[in-house]
Amino acid sequence: MHKVALMKGDGIGPEIVDAAVQVIEATGVDIDWIHLEGGQSARKKLGASLPDETLSTYLECGVGFKGPFSVEMEDERVTPRPRGVSKNKQPRSYNSATNALRREGGGFAAVRLARNYRGVPAPIHGLDVVIVREINEDIYVASEYTVEDDTAVALKIITRKASEAVVRFAFEFAKRNRRKRVTAVHKANVLKQTDGLFVRVAREIACNYPEIEFNDRFVDASCAMIVSNPSWFDVAVMPNQYGDIMSDLCAAAAGSLGLGAGATYGTQACLFEPVHGTAPDIAGKGIANPVSQILSGALMLRHLGEEQYAAAIELAVKDVLSETANHTPDLGGNATTQKITQAIVDRISGHNSR
Ligand code: ATP
Repeated sequence: MHKVALMKGDGIGPEIVDAAVQVIEATGVDIDWIHLEGGQSARKKLGASLPDETLSTYLECGVGFKGPFSVEMEDERVTPRPRGVSKNKQPRSYNSATNALRREGGGFAAVRLARNYRGVPAPIHGLDVVIVREINEDIYVASEYTVEDDTAVALKIITRKASEAVVRFAFEFAKRNRRKRVTAVHKANVLKQTDGLFVRVAREIACNYPEIEFNDRFVDASCAMIVSNPSWFDVAVMPNQYGDIMSDLCAAAAGSLGLGAGATYGTQACLFEPVHGTAPDIAGKGIANPVSQILSGALMLRHLGEEQYAAAIELAVKDVLSETANHTPDLGGNATTQKITQAIVDRISGHNSR
């Protein structure tokens, strides 16, 4: 039996997490869900968006399945003290509970899946890409300063260690998921030191994976390619900032944020969660698209070694999305969360309800 830390989150979180749990359980996989408080609801109930107990239990489980958490106020800090940390040690502080979970778990690679589905309206067609993003460095270390009044400077940090870890992960992910090609995305023609190091490391690591094709592309050309030749990309690995931008580009290209599955892989714990936020505009209306959460669940099952259950979910989602009657409003339809969830459950259970 797998122990999984379950955090339903805020906004549409509880609706889509319940839907995903229903789907995951329909596969028959043996999971012991450990229900934990987190996000705005935890703040209201317990005074902290990431209670110490939640973080400690998540780290003990090593796997978390999470809905979106409301973002913290600008000046708010999250300073959890997980079990086992000495009272004398200064606890680390984060700008959000989600960030705290990712970092305390030793997160080093974020994965975002974006693909088109037959029958789902989207601005482009033929996309099926895995974005693998380094998440600890690059320009997002937020080390900035202002020189006099009219000049501001930001540091971009790229290290061999973090680059090696994320690129190796991208190749391993490609191998496990039978993907054929890894592309390193960068801008080394301009940023010769930082992005130059990243792409050099990527080329070195690629030599260990002769069975997987490797190439590299400039980030601007990559964005253009997503639009002009979307099926070209397979697995794309990149530094933090390019990953941030390309994830959103690809999510929009796929048709809806509600289809975007994601995960953060860490040395101590891995967190599986959709790419979008809490969608407060539609929370509680029963019309949220649960597919992002359901496909994040499939990613989690694959991580747990349950390949056949992961594949069953992905196949059922593909099948169900091909019928417009199952489309939620974000996809232009009028199906409810429950309707699409039930259709996926029925496909998995072999009780085709058409
Ligand atoms: P937050 O403040 O938590 O980031 P947000 O509304 O600013 O929330 P998102 O939650 O990412 O940002 O939502 C952006 C838009 O996409 C909203 O209009 C939202 O309704 C829609 N959206 C996001 N996720 C889904 C989903 N799963 N199903 C349907 N619509 C969604």
